[in-house]
Amino acid sequence: MPRIVRPLGSAGLVLFCDHASNHVPVELDNLGLPPSELMRHIAWDIGAAGVTQALSDIFDAPAILCQTSRLVIDCNRQPHDTGLIPEVSDGTLIPGNLQLSACAKAERLQRWFHPYHDAVESVFLEREARGAPSIAVSIHSMTDSLGGIDRPWQVSLSSHLDRRLTDPMLASLRRVSNITVGDNQPYDLDPNVDYSTPFHAIRRGLPHLQIEIRQDEIEDPPNQQRWAQRLAQSLREII
Ligand SMILES: [Zn+2]
Repeated sequence: MPRIVRPLGSAGLVLFCDHASNHVPVELDNLGLPPSELMRHIAWDIGAAGVTQALSDIFDAPAILCQTSRLVIDCNRQPHDTGLIPEVSDGTLIPGNLQLSACAKAERLQRWFHPYHDAVESVFLEREARGAPSIAVSIHSMTDSLGGIDRPWQVSLSSHLDRRLTDPMLASLRRVSNITVGDNQPYDLDPNVDYSTPFHAIRRGLPHLQIEIRQDEIEDPPNQQRWAQRLAQSLREII
């Protein structure tokens, strides 16, 4: 089940972390993968849960953290997208995902995708009911290198058409010395592929941010705290 931290938090922010966990339910037998593969970025967003938790602590903000690996089902993919249950990820074949039946896909949606999004939805609906404004903040991490190409950005923001918060957040982060900030690099936010921000924030017209931190920056709790403080400083400036 998803983890909800501070569901009634007082902040104007709602945090969600789609790829917080590398947990594979025991009945899926590690999807046929050795444990070393489940420690890689293909299974989760390394460090993202710690940053999300720290931001929740700093702001007294609700945070929803998915507790199932993205290899079981990627909660930030549209249900029709081929990446929803990947057969291959960063060169690794996922035996437990090959040639899944429609029934098996439907079961994964029902057991691990919808409960997470229902949890996120419950937080937004409760806030709407009491008239509390919400800014949606999605926290991800990215690997430092993919397909032999190194990524220079310590942090990047992914956006689509609504850049109300992205532009001032970029400006704020770019004032920090010694970091390189990506703007829709390496990932943009595509409502035909991405699910969480489009469904929970864009659909409601809510201001939002989708933040990607390079995983080598947030591998341990002290660095997760350091990045949470850095992001919090910029968030305070812009909201
Ligand atoms: Zn992610």
